[in-house]
Amino acid sequence: LADSRIEENNVKELNQLSVSYNKMLERLSDSFDIQRQFTANAAHELRTPLSLMQIQLDSYNSNPHPGNDADTEQTIKMVTEQNDRLGKMVKTLLDMSELQTVGRDDVIMVNALVDEVLADLEPLAQEKNIKLIGKCTDIRMIGSDILIYRMVYNLVENAIKYNHSGGRVTVTAYQKEKHIYLSIEDTGNGIPEELRQRVFEPFFRVDKSRSRELGGVGLGLALVHEIVSAHDGTITVRSNPSGGTIFDVSFTQ
Ligand code: ADP
Repeated sequence: LADSRIEENNVKELNQLSVSYNKMLERLSDSFDIQRQFTANAAHELRTPLSLMQIQLDSYNSNPHPGNDADTEQTIKMVTEQNDRLGKMVKTLLDMSELQTVGRDDVIMVNALVDEVLADLEPLAQEKNIKLIGKCTDIRMIGSDILIYRMVYNLVENAIKYNHSGGRVTVTAYQKEKHIYLSIEDTGNGIPEELRQRVFEPFFRVDKSRSRELGGVGLGLALVHEIVSAHDGTITVRSNPSGGTIFDVSFTQ
């Protein structure tokens, strides 16, 4: 009787193990699917500027233009644009792949970091006639200063890019007990509610042609999302009651 009870328990344990192995396998398979989809999207996105460059060069080569400087200039300009796009994409993809190897134990003065981002983006803001406003209290946070800089930079850059001339971007940061809250608020067009969660997906763009026109590659917010997760934080997006978008980031220290 004792033996059969032991056996029954063994079978029960084996069953539980098998259920948890199956769950692990499912998760692994999901993550492979996500990886596969990411690679396919990345290859597709990289191929577009490459094909455009090829078309422009082929058309130029098949139709020589001796002495036609305007045509040569135009071809060089278009090829340079596509090359910049490719460079940007490859850099962001590399940044994403190196994310896990970066140390996360710097002492970051959040207000100084935000001031640095705002100063670095001031020329872009002036070009687009956008006012940048920083409202941060003295906050210290432990994390990767390179990555947190990149996170704030990408969010503020988008808030400028997708804004209207004469608009504003406000960055707020404060601490409440163990929580650090950062918000980036703009006065742009906003993001339709049903698409808000998708903006963190790699290569997702609400308006593909507008993003392309502005030099976007659709990876900025995916990188932001990865950086926030790597710091065990959360990021959400909501609409600004007066129009525009607010990204809220929070970390627990
Ligand atoms: P992109 O390189 O296209 O800017 P991102 O990953 O940074 O890529 O953003 C994804 C998309 O989310 C953008 O193409 C844009 O449509 C939308 N988006 C991001 N930030 C904002 C914002 N502040 N206001 C409105 N739309 C935004």
